[in-house]
Amino acid sequence: MTSRTPREEPVVPRIVVIGSANADLVLDIDHRPAAGETVLGSDLVVTPGGKGANQAVAAGRLGGDVAFVGCVGDDGYGELLRRSLTDAGVDVTHLRTVPGASGNAIILLTPDGENSIIVSPSANRRVTEELVEESRAAWAGAAVMVLQLEIPLATVAHAATTAHAAGVRVILNAAPAAALPPEVLAAADPLVVNESEAAFLLGGVPAAAAEPGGAAATAVALLDLGPRSVVLTLGADGAVLAARGAEPGHVPARKVTAVDTTGAGDAFVGALAVELADGRDLRTAVERATDVAAVAVGRRGAQASYPAREEVR
Ligand code: AMP
Repeated sequence: MTSRTPREEPVVPRIVVIGSANADLVLDIDHRPAAGETVLGSDLVVTPGGKGANQAVAAGRLGGDVAFVGCVGDDGYGELLRRSLTDAGVDVTHLRTVPGASGNAIILLTPDGENSIIVSPSANRRVTEELVEESRAAWAGAAVMVLQLEIPLATVAHAATTAHAAGVRVILNAAPAAALPPEVLAAADPLVVNESEAAFLLGGVPAAAAEPGGAAATAVALLDLGPRSVVLTLGADGAVLAARGAEPGHVPARKVTAVDTTGAGDAFVGALAVELADGRDLRTAVERATDVAAVAVGRRGAQASYPAREEVR
């Protein structure tokens, strides 16, 4: 037997996130402008976001071995987005800087606590099947691949089916809601959605989470679309999980005072990825993701609110 020094071992990230990075442009306004109306907003706050980058940062803060595959622009925001990932310990070997604008989310917050968001994908449109192939070394031996839907759907479909065929576990966060081909849903283990995304995938059938057993029934209906397992997140009501051959289960949310729920779902998905990559069963992974999301909702911001491992109870 030949002995190898650790340096000679292939370094394979255990979690790869392929997805979006956006500069979030956040404005407080006292009411949403009507057509033809101009309103004055607060000072502009720019923070790193995008579902893909948020999930990678969440997993990196928790100590996961994470690589991010994506694109940012050469517009200055690109550096902000790159730095936030590297500060969280995320490998950005396959983060491309492309000419033009970075992805942006214009987030308008009103005093009623509601937000309106406009996402401009820009550089995220350049996350192509070719980039997935180019970054194969980052994900071919990974434990888990995490995907969301802020990059072209053809890329998501290619990544999900190729990774699944290569034996990589695919966590598919079908957000924002979009129609997905059966082979993409079949690659998911788990499919992670919130109630409105679930309703969309089920053809507009209301999630009926308020009814006893309603959310569990929704999770089972999602399972019938083909994924090996499903996690349905329910905000302050926690999450329901369902897997083939097992009774659906409910994990309640932690009781916390919600300060800002922006990016809570992404913290949840990032934590889920770390736990599943570490070999935890789905229920345990959902419980730990619930603990992490509870910390995130208790603090302002998206990535800024994500805890390090030692901050989670
Ligand atoms: P959502 O995307 O809103 O369904 O939230 C994702 C996860 O974040 C939930 O499954 C909870 O674990 C957590 N979460 C969201 N909102 C709250 C809240 N108000 N209190 C506690 N946990 C929350």
